[in-house]
Amino acid sequence: MESSRSAQWEAWLRYADDLGLSPFSLDRTPRSAPGVSHSASTAVEAEVTPVRAAPTTSAAPTPPSASRPVAASAFLPTLTGASLFEEKVDNDTLEGIRSDIGPDCRRCKLHKARKNIVFGVGSPGAELVFVGEGPGHDEDVQGEPFVGRAGKLLTQMIEAMGLRRPDVYICNVVKCRPPENRLPEKDEIATCSPYLIRQLDVIKPKVICCLGACAAQTLLHTTQGISRYRGEWFDYRGARLIATYHPAYLLRNPSAKSEVWKDLQKIMAVLGLPLKRR
Ligand code: URA
Repeated sequence: MESSRSAQWEAWLRYADDLGLSPFSLDRTPRSAPGVSHSASTAVEAEVTPVRAAPTTSAAPTPPSASRPVAASAFLPTLTGASLFEEKVDNDTLEGIRSDIGPDCRRCKLHKARKNIVFGVGSPGAELVFVGEGPGHDEDVQGEPFVGRAGKLLTQMIEAMGLRRPDVYICNVVKCRPPENRLPEKDEIATCSPYLIRQLDVIKPKVICCLGACAAQTLLHTTQGISRYRGEWFDYRGARLIATYHPAYLLRNPSAKSEVWKDLQKIMAVLGLPLKRR
């Protein structure tokens, strides 16, 4: 917990630097940087809880627990604590975020083996954003998310909803390929996820669909496994968030496709897309 907290603080300090807030660690007088509004809370990791309206400013961080049950789907549970990364950049744009990342980002160790930074693709005005884990081999080579086998399945899922890839936005928690397709590590997620959060703040989708545990745990600030809350709706900074299984998991476990289809139909209902029988 301590090391993850310090990794998050490091990432936050780096992020503050990117936003022109330095020397953040030396000057402790309250400041309000142009274009950046701060939240009062610095909770690091909150539990996903079945509450309709949770405090967002003064709650102490709740330690994650594996035993607490998660919400039923009749309402929108929210988080008990706010993210470290509640800052908003006024007049932010996807291009601004891309340029803040830069053409040769070396903020984390993933830069060492990557070929391309995989920023994200799709409509900047999308009502639906899919968030995956991190680029794989094909994505690293092509610089575009979800273009390999799992990506082809994601494209089929999007088309089954009556949409096309350019209608939605697709991105990942980390923008560089983890070697050997390993899971992104905590420090890498802490370094890269502020850019994902900015992307979501710019796009302001109606629905965020987390593909797999990495995206869900990152955005919901939980360590709970995805099967605890898959298919449930959450409130995420004004958007509705749902987590479903990652297409790569579906390639290994095709029988889970029916569960995912149920989740996609829930999204279609929220977006007002005609529901189809399959
Ligand atoms: N898996 C992911 O999580 N993201 C991609 O872009 C490709 C595969």
